[in-house]
Amino acid sequence: MNSQLPEHSQQHWTQVKTRLRAEVGEDIFSSWFARIELDGLAADTVSLSVPTRFLRSWIQSHYAEKVLACWQGVDANITRVDLTVRTAVIRQATTVPVKAPEPPRTTRDGNGKVDGMGFRGGAAPAASQHEALGGSPLDGRLNFDNFVVGRSNSLAHAAAMQVANARPGDQVMFNPLYIHAGVGLGKTHLLQAVTWAGNASGGNKVLYLTAEKFMYGFVSALRTQTALAFKDVLRGINVLVIDDMQFLQGKQTQAEFSHTLNSLIDAGRQVVIAADRPPGDLEAIDERVRSRLAGGLVVEMGSLGEELRLEILNTRVAAARTHHAGFDVPPAVLAYIARSITHNGRDLEGALNRLLACSKLTGQPVTMELAEREVRDLIRPQDPRKVKIEEIQRIVARHYNVSRSDLLSSRRTANVVRPRQVAMYLAKTLTLRSLPEIGRRFGGRDHTTVLHAVRKIEHLVGNDTSLADEVESLKRQIQE
Ligand code: ADP
Ligand code: MG
Repeated sequence: MNSQLPEHSQQHWTQVKTRLRAEVGEDIFSSWFARIELDGLAADTVSLSVPTRFLRSWIQSHYAEKVLACWQGVDANITRVDLTVRTAVIRQATTVPVKAPEPPRTTRDGNGKVDGMGFRGGAAPAASQHEALGGSPLDGRLNFDNFVVGRSNSLAHAAAMQVANARPGDQVMFNPLYIHAGVGLGKTHLLQAVTWAGNASGGNKVLYLTAEKFMYGFVSALRTQTALAFKDVLRGINVLVIDDMQFLQGKQTQAEFSHTLNSLIDAGRQVVIAADRPPGDLEAIDERVRSRLAGGLVVEMGSLGEELRLEILNTRVAAARTHHAGFDVPPAVLAYIARSITHNGRDLEGALNRLLACSKLTGQPVTMELAEREVRDLIRPQDPRKVKIEEIQRIVARHYNVSRSDLLSSRRTANVVRPRQVAMYLAKTLTLRSLPEIGRRFGGRDHTTVLHAVRKIEHLVGNDTSLADEVESLKRQIQE
C-alpha cells in the first residue's frame, strides 16, 4: 500500500475493497484483487495498479464497471478509474503523492513484467500442496459439507460425488464430466469440493485449474522453457478439473488443451469441466474439442429455488458464526433475502457479507431495516445471460399453443411462422447470443433468417399495439 497517500484516501480504498469483496466473493477477490494497490486519488480519478499485465487486462475486461461502481458508492465524485501495471521503477516514482487535480496517468504500462500468479487461497495444507503442483487457489469453504443439494443441482452433485469417491484405477464412468450453469449457481463450489475430497482422501491427485490458469501456466511455462515440466505435472495427476472453460482462448492453448484432454481421457483419467454454457455453445472453442467435451456426461445446474437459497443462507450464517459468534440474523431477514435475491449464490453471499460487515462495524443487531437498506442494490432485474433460449421457446410455444418442436421444425404455416419469429426476436433481445447461434438453436437456421425475424417483429411491434402488448407480456413471463 502506498503509505504516502492522505489518510482519507486510504480509508476510502479500504471501504471500496470491502465492497468489492462483498460483491465478488472471497475467491474472486483474492484471485484478482488481492494485489491491486491504490496509487493516487485525484478529484474524479482513481489510480490503481497491479503487478502484471495479465491482471490488468483481466480486471479491465471483467470487473472495470464493478470497480468503478464500488468507488462511486464510497465517493460519488469518481468518474474514472485508471488501472496500470507497476514495475519496480514505477513503484518508486509513484510514492510521490498525487495532487488533485492532475491529468490521469495512463501511460505506465511500460515493461509490466509478467510474473507467476502468486495468489494465495485457503491456508490449509492440502491447498498449499495443491498450489505447489501449479493448481489454482482453493477456497476451504467450498467443500461438499457446505454444498446444499436441491432439485436443480442433485444430478451434478451426484456425478461430482461419484468422481470424488472414485479410487485410482476404478473404471471411469463418464469422461469428461461437464457441468454447466449460469453465474453463481455453484459450479466452482462443486469443482473445488471434488478437488478437496479427492486430495483429502490421499488416493487421488486432483488438480484444479481455472481456464486462465491453464492458459497462463502453459504460456508462462513456454516462456521459461518449462513446458515439459508443466506437461509432466498434468500427466502425474488422476483427476484434472478445469473451471470456467468458456474463457479458454487462443489457438495454441486450445491445441494444447485438446491434446491434454485426449491423452488424459485415453489413459482413463478423469476430467471434470465447468462452463457457463453447454459444450455446443462454446463458440471460441474448436469443433473437435467441443464434441469431445460433449462426449461424456453433460449436466446442467438450474437456478437456485427459494428453498435452496434459504438453506444456503442458513449454512453460511452457521459458518460465519464460528468466527463471529455475535453474528445473528433473524429468520425473517434470511427469508427476506432468500425471497428477494433470486439470481445467484454469489449475491446471496454478498448480501450476508454486507450484513456481517455492518453488524461488526456498528455493533448493531441485524434488523430487517438494515437488511433492506444494505441489499437493495443486489436486487436487480434478470441478468440477460441467465435467460435461456429453451425457456423462451417453451414460453412462446405455450402462449401460441404450438409445440416447441414446431418452432424448431421447418414448417412454414402461418400459425408457426409468427410464433417462431417472436421467439427469435426475444432470443435476440433478451440474451447475449449471436445471430448464428440463435439460428442453430432454432433447428439449424441461417443467421440471415434470424435477422429477418428480428427486423420483422421490431417493425410490427412499432405498428401493432396488440402485438406489442403480447411481446411485452411474453418478456415479463420469461424474465420472471
Ligand atoms: P459459479 O462458479 O457457478 O459462478 P460459485 O460456485 O462460485 O458459482 O457459487 C457462488 C456462491 O454461491 C458461492 O459462495 C457458493 O458457495 C454459493 N453456492 C452456490 N450454490 C450453492 C449450493 N448448492 N450450496 C451452497 N452454496 C452454494
Ligand atoms: Mg465459478
